[in-house]
Amino acid sequence: MARRIVLGGAVLAGAGAALEENWGILIEDGVLVALGPNEDLLSRAGGAEVTDAGDLVLCPGFVNAHEHAYGRLAHGIPLVGEPPRGFDRFLADFWWPRVEDRLDGAMIGAATALACVDMIRSGFTTFCDVLEAPFSEAGILDLEAAVVERAGVRAVLCLEASERHGTEVGRRALDENERFARARRSDGRIRGMQCLHTSFTCSESFVLAAKESATRAGCGLHLHLSESTYEPEECLRRHGERPVFWYDRLGLWDEAVLASQGVALTDEEIERLAERRVRMAHMPLSNCEVGGGIAPVPRMIDRGLSPGLGTDGYINDPFEVMRGAFLLHKGARADAAVMPARTVFAMATAWGATSVGWPEVGVLESGRAADVIGIDAATDTPLTRGNVLDQLVLFRGRGDVRLSIVAGRDVMRDGVVQTMDEVEVRGGARREAQRLWRGESRG
Ligand SMILES: [Zn+2]
Repeated sequence: MARRIVLGGAVLAGAGAALEENWGILIEDGVLVALGPNEDLLSRAGGAEVTDAGDLVLCPGFVNAHEHAYGRLAHGIPLVGEPPRGFDRFLADFWWPRVEDRLDGAMIGAATALACVDMIRSGFTTFCDVLEAPFSEAGILDLEAAVVERAGVRAVLCLEASERHGTEVGRRALDENERFARARRSDGRIRGMQCLHTSFTCSESFVLAAKESATRAGCGLHLHLSESTYEPEECLRRHGERPVFWYDRLGLWDEAVLASQGVALTDEEIERLAERRVRMAHMPLSNCEVGGGIAPVPRMIDRGLSPGLGTDGYINDPFEVMRGAFLLHKGARADAAVMPARTVFAMATAWGATSVGWPEVGVLESGRAADVIGIDAATDTPLTRGNVLDQLVLFRGRGDVRLSIVAGRDVMRDGVVQTMDEVEVRGGARREAQRLWRGESRG
């Protein structure tokens, strides 16, 4: 049995927990078995490996509830001509033809490695990745999984299915997700999920096929929901009802479904999502980037939903995303009381864990996975029990994450990634980005 003690400057077990100074953790075979004062843990050491994390605050690793690793290669990609107007034109004229439809395995592998390195450095220990590459080679999720395996982090992987290149191409993606989810059912750190795109790229029969597949495979199901006003307008035009009610009529919603974005939602739609206990993911920064708007997250929370936070392939830094969630809604509502640091920290940890279907992570507690990060808490002003969440959410950054442990194993120590050669990964990603930008398409 592998036993390990990590002595901390303090432990913050979760958003609702008190800061416990001079506490550490005891890990056995990748599982957290105890939290307590450092001296107590040392007295139980009995041959356990001991790591002294110095003054670091140990807390749960962050969960990225919605990511597109491939999106890294498109950071800074030049536009040709005028910027597209509107979300639908952004997809149809730019993102689909210039990025998604050109991705091949080499690009996806390099982008996934880069995403993993970035996430390890910034304190994410679990992520849910949505690969949008309709023409990628068969078995592409295995290729992605091999990279994630090497990185040592935890992930839910899926390939987005839609009918925008016809039903056959879409069905291939559904099959790939089902195959992968079944194969990974008992896997320790990597799982699968069924995944469809939107109500404007999937027909009724396609949505039903995705739902049946997820039920067969016993896995979750992900979709993008109303990222801007375009989807509800289009759904009303095509089906005579808004997306949440259209999907509801098809029997899609239940607690195995993860809906990301949720920007253009009415109160009635939020009510229905809450009744169906749908899992949600909020992307404050990328929603702004694409001009989608500001998601009604405070209202979702009032109604009992517990959204996680995601980067959406955009700025891969949990601290920037947390600050986005902390600030945007206060500004939009002219109310400094909404979205306190405690809520935002919960979204980035425990709520995100539930959103991606991995409730064993996101909180430090005996019996849960030993996914722990250590944050340098040498803030300029005192860090106390009363202000710890404000200090971490508002005044710390990715460079302050010095230690990252996933399933009991160090993936970053003293700020250095242990599982991958960062220079090599960044070089590889840059080369593949150049291929993508030059339009060297698949194969
Ligand atoms: Zn997305």
